[in-house]
Amino acid sequence: MNVHSMKQCHICEEEKEKGIYLLVSFICTDCEKEMLNTAPEDEKYQYYVERLKRGLQNQLNMRLLS
Ligand SMILES: [Zn+2]
Repeated sequence: MNVHSMKQCHICEEEKEKGIYLLVSFICTDCEKEMLNTAPEDEKYQYYVERLKRGLQNQLNMRLLS
């Protein structure tokens, strides 16, 4: 069993060791780079925003329920 603490990226949903927290959502370094290289008018950018919003929503729901 892997002892490293792996966190699930909110964008690609892969378990990653390295990344950053954007608000309450964990973003892996790969997705972070992708996001920074994506222009806001790009269709892909909207996708990232939606994923982040969904992650944030989940966190808020959990907090309200607990
Ligand atoms: Zn990712």
